[in-house]
Amino acid sequence: MLLLVLLTVITVAANARSTSVKQSSLSFFYVIPLGTNGGLDENNLSSYLLTSINNSIPNSAYISLDGGTIRHGIEIAIKQQSLPLNTDKEIFIREQIKAYLISHGHLDHITGFLINTPNDKSGKFIIGLNQTIKIIRDHYFNNQAWADFGSTGLKTYDYQILDPLSTIPAPIVNTDLDVRIFRLCHTCPFLSSAFLVSRRNQPSASILYLGDTGPDDVEKIIQVDQTTYSPRYLSQLWKEMAPLVAANQLKAIFIEVSYPNGRPDHLLFGHLTPNWLLKELNVLKSYHSMENVKIIVTHIKPENGAREKIIEQLSRGDALHFNFVFPQQGQAIWL
Ligand SMILES: [Zn+2]
Ligand SMILES: [Zn+2]
Repeated sequence: MLLLVLLTVITVAANARSTSVKQSSLSFFYVIPLGTNGGLDENNLSSYLLTSINNSIPNSAYISLDGGTIRHGIEIAIKQQSLPLNTDKEIFIREQIKAYLISHGHLDHITGFLINTPNDKSGKFIIGLNQTIKIIRDHYFNNQAWADFGSTGLKTYDYQILDPLSTIPAPIVNTDLDVRIFRLCHTCPFLSSAFLVSRRNQPSASILYLGDTGPDDVEKIIQVDQTTYSPRYLSQLWKEMAPLVAANQLKAIFIEVSYPNGRPDHLLFGHLTPNWLLKELNVLKSYHSMENVKIIVTHIKPENGAREKIIEQLSRGDALHFNFVFPQQGQAIWL
């Protein structure tokens, strides 16, 4: 009974927040969350399908932002009618997911993609930082952990390595989308990354997707001589995003909150809490008001009522300056 009441409360809270992400003739992007959690449940791990919208109709060519859960997420999306009821998930994965943008090499961001590789269609790109691509090549596609589906083996996929220092967007093949990459601190010395995805020929619309990241004030990089420094990658990212926010071009920021408040900094393991998220978002807000940018909260660790606590902690005080969205698996978001 208590569980039922709790579930009702969560649904109400989630619905209250999702009213702002319904279909609108002003929408530029269509997002299907295939997985929204930060671990444990293998059926609901970080993965977001994204496509452009033309004349209020989502384009059939999707990209996948991370690939934690794929097949099960598509099943849920079909049930929720975020995809047509007659969608064949096999054909959808082969024909309609055109590229995989992987933020970092952790399993919770890549397992669904890996498991589905044997049936995938060739000619697709895996897109990421050089370091992430190297992890995929050396640790998964190595003919030991898994067959080599990359360009040195079965050639199902090619690698598209993005340079975080380049300011020129790279085209995502077979889509009308372009992408830039940014570095993030997560588990030193390995980096995570953020993707800025924009509509080609329509630079008035972009979304920013961040993989796992810790806060600038906590994250340090250990150098070869064992000294540390703070790269402050989030500050750099906010500085780059400020003109887009000011020009009303940035429609949404997908960013993680793994734990509720109260978690000690030394146990963050490269993740954010609501307070740390607010501290970071306030840096961006110091450049420009954020009222037109949806903040899509990803990667909540499904432990000890974390989801309800995080929703509650992001619904008062300073959080009211931001337009938070708590995505649900399979439930489409119009941006
Ligand atoms: Zn991670
Ligand atoms: Zn993760």
